[in-house]
Amino acid sequence: MAQLMVKRPNGTRDVVPSQMYKWNTVEGIVKSQAEAYGFKEIRIPTFEETGLFVRSVGDTTDVVQKEMYSVTATGDDGFTLRPEGTAGTIRALIENGLLNDGLPQKLFYVLSCFRHEKPQAGRLREFHQFGVEMAGSSDPRADAEVISLAKSILDAAGLKNIQLNINSIGCPECRAKYQQALKDYFAPSLDKMCETCHNRYEKNPLRLLDCKSEICSEIAKGAPVIIDYLCDDCRTHFESLQKYLTAMGIDFAINPKIVRGLDYYTKTVFEFISTDIGSQGTVCGGGRYDGLIEELGGKPTPALGFGMGLERLILTMENQGAEFADEESCDIYIGSMGENAAVKAMQICRELREDGVRAECDVVGRSVRAQMKYADKIKAKFSVMIGDSELESGKVELKDMQAAEKPAEPTMLTLDENFRGCFNALLIAKQLDAEGFDFGTDE
Ligand code: ATP
Ligand code: MG
Repeated sequence: MAQLMVKRPNGTRDVVPSQMYKWNTVEGIVKSQAEAYGFKEIRIPTFEETGLFVRSVGDTTDVVQKEMYSVTATGDDGFTLRPEGTAGTIRALIENGLLNDGLPQKLFYVLSCFRHEKPQAGRLREFHQFGVEMAGSSDPRADAEVISLAKSILDAAGLKNIQLNINSIGCPECRAKYQQALKDYFAPSLDKMCETCHNRYEKNPLRLLDCKSEICSEIAKGAPVIIDYLCDDCRTHFESLQKYLTAMGIDFAINPKIVRGLDYYTKTVFEFISTDIGSQGTVCGGGRYDGLIEELGGKPTPALGFGMGLERLILTMENQGAEFADEESCDIYIGSMGENAAVKAMQICRELREDGVRAECDVVGRSVRAQMKYADKIKAKFSVMIGDSELESGKVELKDMQAAEKPAEPTMLTLDENFRGCFNALLIAKQLDAEGFDFGTDE
């Protein structure tokens, strides 16, 4: 009887080996750019106490109200699979005393996030984020640096048509006035609005601007904008940020509608939107959260950061035909015929790998033909086939698997301690040749 096949959970993905080069490209880009800006990598647990997310993301957000994967094990209190990286990173920053270790602290991470959402293109239940957090500066130069890093990554990924939207949502003081103005504006239309918005009206009026429902977003179009309510400090901060961005050649648009989904933001908020991947176009979102560290029990420290969705980044790169770094294939396949040759093949392979050469040999017991077929399949650059006569003569012919025609003179390698040195030299020569290096001509 056929067994029922187990499928992966809805909204999750496998990355098969043939697709891995895309992830390696993107992770290489984010890490090298983050390091260029002086950010250091941090790793945090996959799950945290549920209360951490309720306090930092905010209990009126969609993430906390509808999207959390909460788990309990016998005898444990509630834990939740992280829906984003900031809360855990800030918790770790405080818990490990990093705030006493010289400011600003500049951290980055690449991690999986879990949200119980309706799966669709660019919206998954397990997805991956690259994120950064910078703690210890309230200066707008910090905001400009963080935005600049996100922009450098998108540029290095070769993306076009990405729009940067910025806004300031002020500090608790100016926001209180603005929230009152919003309530006054929405009050007459409230009975037409969705149920969630009724709740937002009471608990977090700013979120009224964030509603995705058609009626609510239509009503929100005429709402007062926060920029008109900013206090002097917040206004100056926002203007300075724009000055730095302009000086760094980073184009932006001010969009008073972005308030960001999460509760902990203050002053600067921003999003990078791709026009190429449809409605889930936000590739990167972030902002300043000056109150969060204190809220989580650390000494009051201003901070900011962003999260970048890696699936959306890859999707945008694919749609725009951006280039991914090539996958490295096998350097040499060492084929063998017979027991003694097999032993020799394994010895040589092991030596080559000590030099960092990607070497493979037969571990299945296949025929010569099948071995060569496999060498083709794995796109080996070179191959040799060791048999009894090669063992006897101590020499083997090196085959260039990518050469269009057979060379006039075969390249012979000796089956002794010189094999690795000679092969390494040939491999380097082939690489230089592929890069168009001019070896000059014989006199
Ligand atoms: P959206 O408005 O698209 O739901 P969000 O405001 O919930 O995004 P953030 O919490 O700011 O997103 O997360 C940062 C980034 O993570 C997003 O800009 C996006 O690129 C990515 N992201 C968020 N949710 C998902 C998801 N379910 N699947 C894939 N990527 C996601
Ligand atoms: Mg969301």
